[in-house]
Amino acid sequence: MSYMKGLKCRECGKEYPKEALHVCELCFGPLEVSYEYDKIKEVLSRSVIEKRSPNMWRYKELLPLEGDPSVGAQVGFTPLVRAKNLGEALGVKEIYIKNDAVNFPTLSFKDRVVSVAISRARELGFHIVACASTGNLANSVAANAAACGMETYVFIPYDLEKTKIMGTLVYGASVVGIKGTYDEVNRLCSEVAGKYGWAFVNINIRPYYAEGSKTFGYEIAEQLGWKLPRHIVVPMAGGSLITKIWKAFNEFIKLGLVENNNTKVYGAQATGCAPIVNAVKEGSELIRPVRPNTIAKSLAIGNPADGYYSAKVMRESGGWGESVTDEEIIDSMKLLAETEGIFAETAGGVTLGVTRKLIEQGRINRDESIVVSITGNGLKTQEALEGKLNKVTVINARLSEFDDIVKANGKEYALKG
Ligand SMILES: *Cc1c(COP(=O)(O)O)cnc(C)c1O
Ligand SMILES: [Zn+2]
Repeated sequence: MSYMKGLKCRECGKEYPKEALHVCELCFGPLEVSYEYDKIKEVLSRSVIEKRSPNMWRYKELLPLEGDPSVGAQVGFTPLVRAKNLGEALGVKEIYIKNDAVNFPTLSFKDRVVSVAISRARELGFHIVACASTGNLANSVAANAAACGMETYVFIPYDLEKTKIMGTLVYGASVVGIKGTYDEVNRLCSEVAGKYGWAFVNINIRPYYAEGSKTFGYEIAEQLGWKLPRHIVVPMAGGSLITKIWKAFNEFIKLGLVENNNTKVYGAQATGCAPIVNAVKEGSELIRPVRPNTIAKSLAIGNPADGYYSAKVMRESGGWGESVTDEEIIDSMKLLAETEGIFAETAGGVTLGVTRKLIEQGRINRDESIVVSITGNGLKTQEALEGKLNKVTVINARLSEFDDIVKANGKEYALKG
């Protein structure tokens, strides 16, 4: 049973059938999936959801498929960690890490959007799946397409992190590295989609793809004991995730699953690529494109497709946007690892770095609940930490040489016998 009604233009409201469409032919506004919420309200309750398997499909009535997912049945329901040590370090009472660094199968939140997009592409009769990616989407499209036997083309900026490239090639995808920025990759992909008619998950399938991000928000609400946080900090690339978390919270309120907690939503970007944050700070509705220059490559989109709408979410919710330098990104990656044992990628350093800034600025109240959105895994962006960590102490396998290390550390240990 599907509760998906159709597609609807976000600007003029014109309705469209549930096909591979993404822009309004009247006003060029983006299309969004609409649902029959009255009917969903009759069937979906906390206890119905709680009885289901721990994956993102426990909210299936709110996802845009006609039938069951054809790939990614195990995606989602990642840990929400009550981060006591981090909270102490930052001087805040109640802080949580939503940890998609361990999402299945490719260790980023992109598995959520891709399982929806590929499943929907198959329902619509596509045989070839493709994407324009800053890295994590490439990994996820390649893996999930392999798992359901689809042919795959992945387009990336040629200078991505080694592990992100390897973690795409390994699944047998055709990987095309473009000499240019993500924005140039994306432009080429629109042309390829037009000419070859493939399912580009984040272009012509985008309205369905983007809905997968809502599950990140549903899970937070459920894992907090059916409550919304007071503050949530979200990393932004194209700006889709932040708008979908907001949509998720509002759907849960509308369905009576949670109470409105006046959640404030904050967007995080790297200073070297902060077009959305710049607009928020300037109080402008206009997103001025930038040329990215940051170690947070997964967030390096200079002309964000959902920039306008994400700025609007921050404004409407009473949140804010902030950015951090590459140095601050690395510092926060280390802080998260050292306090909570969580190794996040550069994007996680952006999110935590921005969270710290917002706390220091007094925008986030130290006594209220805070969720930090960790969206990708640190093992994929190891280059960023090269030369930034302590060195391994290399010795011969001799006890006396180890004794020297202990001495050099200047610590006293009780000895046995
Ligand atoms: C893609 C990505 C994001 C942001 O996604 P948008 O929806 O495009 O804003 C955040 N974090 C990581 C690690 C990503 O790969
Ligand atoms: Zn329109």
